[in-house]
Amino acid sequence: MVGRSSVIFGSLGIATLMAIFAPAANAAAPMAGGQAPGFYRMMLGRFEVTSLSDGTHPFPVHTVLTKNRDEAGSQFVPLDQVAPGEADALLAESRLTVPVEGSINAFLINTGSKLVLIDAGAGTLYGDCCGKLIDNLRAAGYAPEQVDDIYLTHLHADHVGGIAPGGKMAFSNATIHVSDADASYWLDPEQEKKAPKLLTSMFEGDKASVKPYVEAGRFKPFKSGEQLVAGITAIPGAGHTPGHSFYMVESDGQRLLLWGDVVHVAPVQFADPDVTLAYDSDPGMAKKERIEVFSKAATENYWIGAAHISFPGIGHVSARDGHFQWVPTNYDAQPTSPK
Ligand SMILES: [Zn+2]
Repeated sequence: MVGRSSVIFGSLGIATLMAIFAPAANAAAPMAGGQAPGFYRMMLGRFEVTSLSDGTHPFPVHTVLTKNRDEAGSQFVPLDQVAPGEADALLAESRLTVPVEGSINAFLINTGSKLVLIDAGAGTLYGDCCGKLIDNLRAAGYAPEQVDDIYLTHLHADHVGGIAPGGKMAFSNATIHVSDADASYWLDPEQEKKAPKLLTSMFEGDKASVKPYVEAGRFKPFKSGEQLVAGITAIPGAGHTPGHSFYMVESDGQRLLLWGDVVHVAPVQFADPDVTLAYDSDPGMAKKERIEVFSKAATENYWIGAAHISFPGIGHVSARDGHFQWVPTNYDAQPTSPK
């Protein structure tokens, strides 16, 4: 029996039939581009921790990495002068070449009674690459007005800019906190006059970002050792800026250290923790601090949340044969219960 469909197909040419039944492999679909919203969740005891991406930017490896030239460690010059080829060789081990996209991450902590943001990304201070924190916060199921407190690791543009993109307050109910030492340095016009040229734009960005909160009476620097939100403690992590702070987050015996700017280029600085940054206010101290915090994190085995390690910037530090290594978190699609 000849089916109805055969009758219909019989009236069509072979070429037309081939076109109808040909696989769609040749269809020219436009490239979709972009990524999924930049948030990643984990549970830390009873706290919910959400890593938020503010974006990535081409990190200027060859212009900002530095290292001490003399044995005494007092003279820091570009890494390429002290150890030509070191940065490229270490990047190559991670199958990377310059320019390397550098992540800017911030961390939202829901303690059950407070919603706390640690760092806030660059806002509009780094251009179009970044300033995606608010969109990603919303995608993660929260609204900026729900945030109670924002604790900044330090007052560099890529950490503070996001509190007030374009100079407008983004978190209408939040109080901004940073260490006394950082606030008194970065908001002091006398320090601005004396500062190296590399840092002058930072002062401008800081003043514009904190201004609406100062005017609203919601800018409250803290003193070292002062009690913050229950379960979150500030630890001085000096060297990168005068008052650079780490935040230890602890719930039900689980610990996560949010260490701000200990690492900028992970493939280089885990292999060679002596590599410092042109932006370090005291590179000798920053180097010492990095080695100490790597050792402690590896020994005590707590979680790390890093502002500039590839998103989500959550993982552990391990030490093997005298070398440090970054161990990124294993992806967990159902982060609902403590692990
Ligand atoms: Zn930074």
